[in-house]
Amino acid sequence: MIRTVLGNIKEDALGITLPHEHICCYSEYVFQMAGNKYLDKNDLVIISSTYLRELKEKYGLNTFVDCTPINIGRDIEMLKKVSEQSSVNIICSTGFYYTDEPVLYNTSTEQLCEYMIADVRTANAGIIKCAVKNETISNFQEKLLRACAKTHLYLGIPIVLHTNAENKNAFKALEILFLEGVKPNTVTVGHLSDTDDLEYVKQIASYGCYIGLDRLYEKNSAEYITKKTNGILELCRAGYEDQILLSHDAQFFNGFEAEPKICKQPRFSYCFDYILPKLHHSLSDKLMIINPMRMLTCK
Ligand SMILES: [Zn+2]
Repeated sequence: MIRTVLGNIKEDALGITLPHEHICCYSEYVFQMAGNKYLDKNDLVIISSTYLRELKEKYGLNTFVDCTPINIGRDIEMLKKVSEQSSVNIICSTGFYYTDEPVLYNTSTEQLCEYMIADVRTANAGIIKCAVKNETISNFQEKLLRACAKTHLYLGIPIVLHTNAENKNAFKALEILFLEGVKPNTVTVGHLSDTDDLEYVKQIASYGCYIGLDRLYEKNSAEYITKKTNGILELCRAGYEDQILLSHDAQFFNGFEAEPKICKQPRFSYCFDYILPKLHHSLSDKLMIINPMRMLTCK
């Protein structure tokens, strides 16, 4: 069974899936400073559910994995409303972003793990999100990684790693997870489409992890589309077609911006419009249906 914000579903009910997206990311204290100046959640629900419903009608999108961790604005009640109003399954995350949160700083690995297990049950979270930033993994991030590993081993839901392709910190993050006993095929290494260094991507894939080509977008540039499509085909030729996940890491509200506002036309359709038409139909199905299903069920 797959955990969604509206309850458990069978794996064959997932269908076409975007495995790494966000409805919104923000900091709660923005409301204290600015009230609803930047974000009106009722508007966000209407805009995002309307847009997801359009993606469902146009491209058959059936499942949306919201990778927003707890501490950058995950809002389960909002995600439930968006899922209900769009008729698109939404899978949410437990776990934390790499920013040091005072409340977590002195929390032990075991306490964090207990907290995440309870959170998965309350939120019915379907993935564990973990994020690392710098080349050197800080003690805090190492603690998060170990707590995510233990939560995964206890509950059996997959881990999605936010990594930095520029400094190749996925190797160190994976080493910590593997030492805790996590199996490679239960981990997605995210943001690998940020690099054109396919040897790095292949090295990660050779461990058996899912490779998240999850930031595919660049305004209709033919050169970019050809480069990324050829990269996907090369990874397939190298034997990794069962491990590739395509997504956009897009969001309707990006609280990382200085003057954030709700985005009415986010880039959630880029793969459907520009990448998938260049691939064989059977490969498209594998990348958008089979691989996300296997990732979400830890196969
Ligand atoms: Zn993301």
